[in-house]
Amino acid sequence: MRTSNKNTNQHPLTLLKIFALFFCMFSSLYLIYNIYHIEKFHQKYITKIQAVYSYTRRFGSYYDNSPEEYKHKSIYTTGNVSLIVNTKSKVKILSDGISKLRSELNQLTNNNIWTIAVFENPADYAHFDPIRPEYLDQFDKYGENSVMHRIVEREGLTNTYQSFYGCNLKLTESYIEDGSQTRIRTLYYPIYNKMHLDALLAIDIKTKVFSEALKKYNKSYLTMINMNDNSNIYKIKGLLPCSQLNPISIGINILSVFKVVFFPALLLTILYSYFNIYLVKKRHNIQRDQMTNFYRRDYYEKKWLKQRNFNLLIIDIDHFKKINDTYGHEVGDDVIRHVAQRINNSIRTKDIAVRWGGEEFIITFTDMTPPQLHIKAGQICHSIASVPILNLSITVSIGGISATDINFNDAYKAADKALYVSKNQGRNQYTIAE
Ligand code: GH3
Ligand code: MG
Ligand code: MG
Repeated sequence: MRTSNKNTNQHPLTLLKIFALFFCMFSSLYLIYNIYHIEKFHQKYITKIQAVYSYTRRFGSYYDNSPEEYKHKSIYTTGNVSLIVNTKSKVKILSDGISKLRSELNQLTNNNIWTIAVFENPADYAHFDPIRPEYLDQFDKYGENSVMHRIVEREGLTNTYQSFYGCNLKLTESYIEDGSQTRIRTLYYPIYNKMHLDALLAIDIKTKVFSEALKKYNKSYLTMINMNDNSNIYKIKGLLPCSQLNPISIGINILSVFKVVFFPALLLTILYSYFNIYLVKKRHNIQRDQMTNFYRRDYYEKKWLKQRNFNLLIIDIDHFKKINDTYGHEVGDDVIRHVAQRINNSIRTKDIAVRWGGEEFIITFTDMTPPQLHIKAGQICHSIASVPILNLSITVSIGGISATDINFNDAYKAADKALYVSKNQGRNQYTIAE
């Protein structure tokens, strides 16, 4: 039917546009969210590293004030900490402090502290937490090669006591430890007293501490921040504090953003389209009569009350009571449906058809001259009468008016009078009021 339903199926292109809109909107929002978190994670991580450095520095005064004992050449183990004495000497007892330092640093690094060692200068003894076989072998050569001085020089940590700011410790680049094959970065902190290098504190931190922290952060905040991805759309690249190699780069890749937002955008598009179909159906039910699909009287009458020009036809089925009485109400209903369909086939999309009463319809036409209205009324009568409906000879009578500057009530009254004339003159005919 031409006056029937507005199409409730949405055009695929429209859905694609809605999806594109949601997709772009979600992608932008999620990208901004991630960029915000890249900055936040970076700050949080730097703060953590500074806390690791701060604990490490505090070990200096613990070292200075720890008790000393004479020890023979041997290996002494307290808990996880082993003390290797190469030459009988007075040694500082640091086991408790080292254990405490490990537990504090493990908390900050999510258990990624590998080894803590304190090398005495000269290399008469050293503490290791824990001791690994390869350390024993290497430590034997410490004294003769003056390894400690070479490390301090290489890392630019000579005479750090001369300045009270800046980096008095150093984080190395990432490397794989001999023997254990563990990827680590070492934090070196030289302990000076009276301009003498007394000891070197070395803390091995597993390199994966960073990727693990990032993974944890992504999980907590539902972010997609990655590290060292060259195709990132946004990234922060920089060295960690007190390190000169292996800058860390964190950022966000646009493809990963697209992957995350694809399904929510799709889901929302589907929900939106269902909601839209529901709204269109609901609007249709409010506006349209279910049996005929014509406009409902209560919906359209108020629009006509504002109108001033009318080309109007009232169409009433002839002797309809008889059809009901003879064939029953259901057949009557079917006849009404068929008549409405034939009327609908005789009018244009822009014409307005209203089911005014049970078997009575009003049609208004735009852009129509009075002679055209006559022709139209004749066509409608003919379309009903010419071919039987459900094997029954059905006819309609029509009353009409074509007038300008007239209100609806007056137009209706005149058309109804004309309908009365059609009925009186034998039905199956139309009358247009003069
Ligand atoms: P006339 O030629 O003078 O119009 O005679 P008529 O019998 O058609 O008289 P009228 O137009 O007054 O008849 C209306 C009848 O239509 C009364 C009612 O029983 C019947 N009717 C109204 N609405 C419906 C409907 O929805 N379904 C059916 N089956 N009958 C309806
Ligand atoms: Mg009738
Ligand atoms: Mg009637």
